[in-house]
Amino acid sequence: KRFTDLNALADEYLKLAYHGLKAKDKEFNAELITDFLPDLSKLEVIPQEIGRVLLNLYNNAFYAVKEKQTKTPSDYQPTVTVSTTQRNGYTEIRVSDNGVGMPESVKAKIFQPFFTTKPTGEGTGLGLSLSYDIVTKGHGGSLTVESLEGESTAFVIQLPTLS
Ligand code: ADP
Ligand code: MG
Repeated sequence: KRFTDLNALADEYLKLAYHGLKAKDKEFNAELITDFLPDLSKLEVIPQEIGRVLLNLYNNAFYAVKEKQTKTPSDYQPTVTVSTTQRNGYTEIRVSDNGVGMPESVKAKIFQPFFTTKPTGEGTGLGLSLSYDIVTKGHGGSLTVESLEGESTAFVIQLPTLS
């Protein structure tokens, strides 16, 4: 584990995910919004692993907005937002999107290994189960989800802040 600037990490991987996607799909455009707490204290994490979690969350978010874009009028603005904050002993990273969201029946299963709603070849269903293990077992944190079907999804990573 290394003391890590999570704002920089979250920003770096957001751009990585977005540009990776745009390289494959030049038509794709999304608004990226970042709202980082300016004086976030550095946290002891495994940067590659938290990076991997972020990449999973970002790729899922971009997929969800793309999916919504195909079924929505042209005034739809795909948006992925990442924010950081610090509260009572936890540092929080929130990744949200205004994509397709998910019904309760899906939300109940997303952290199970191999659960996916994506067509064969587009999803392994391993991203969130791996992310869950990295955040909880690997870092003593929590990974939770809020979602409104058809509207939006937000994943919240909470990591204990050493003080
Ligand atoms: P995969 O992306 O390979 O399907 P994940 O474990 O990353 O596997 O996600 C599991 C499922 O959770 C997805 O197939 C999808 O149904 C749902 N999901 C994850 N993130 C989002 C999101 N941002 N918006 C809507 N659904 C999501
Ligand atoms: Mg995924």
